[in-house]
Amino acid sequence: MGVKVKFGNGLTSSFWKDNWKANVPLCSKYHRLFHLDVNGDCSIDDRVHNGEWAWEWVRPIGPRYSSLLQEMKIELDNISLNNDVDRKVWSLSNEGVYKVRDIRALIDISILPSWNLATRWVKQLPRKINVFIWRVAWNRLPTRLNFLARGMDIEDIGCPLCDYNVESLDHLLFGCVMAKELWLKVKIWVDMDVARDCSSWSEWVSWFDSWSGASDSKTKLYVFVASLLWHIWRFRNSKLFGSNSMKKAFLFDSI
Ligand SMILES: [Zn+2]
Repeated sequence: MGVKVKFGNGLTSSFWKDNWKANVPLCSKYHRLFHLDVNGDCSIDDRVHNGEWAWEWVRPIGPRYSSLLQEMKIELDNISLNNDVDRKVWSLSNEGVYKVRDIRALIDISILPSWNLATRWVKQLPRKINVFIWRVAWNRLPTRLNFLARGMDIEDIGCPLCDYNVESLDHLLFGCVMAKELWLKVKIWVDMDVARDCSSWSEWVSWFDSWSGASDSKTKLYVFVASLLWHIWRFRNSKLFGSNSMKKAFLFDSI
């Protein structure tokens, strides 16, 4: 679910970075080719000449990538630009069409409390992070979707970190590309499957509760994960409100 581009003349949509064809941006599906384009920010229109696809590569496409290029050409076959202006549409359903019931379902998920609401107060964590986790468990953080769910007039409910999904709490802390990267680092760091398939706090807590680790290991992991979520939230806020005090590359180190 997220934002899709309904392309027209292709002038304002990014060929590689917008989600206009393959349900994911082409830069992630064909990332090897993306890195060979002389201009990764080119528009769709930039890559069309005389009605044909025409790319500009930093070096000739060798045999290694030619089958990949062929695959992409087949995928882009039969696409033709028209005179309409490109526009972004919410893709909250498989049909790619905005439907009230789909956004209603998302809002319900945002309002209804999670099943597992046991929130512990961990003395090793600062008070602010304990409070933060309590708000996560009750979905009480002011994400854009929560603003909308509470009747506020908000123009953009997209995730400020990836721009491709609605900013729900679960998306931001578990599903967003950036969150996934950090969860993967946690997994490697603690050498455990702490993040597999977790898409929400309640899911993670169920896993955590069922884990039979020693009590001090459990506390350490809980503190670490709580700090991770806290830092993602702070990073999101710094991005949204214009403070450049947090750098993504150093996020994990600061946890
Ligand atoms: Zn996101």
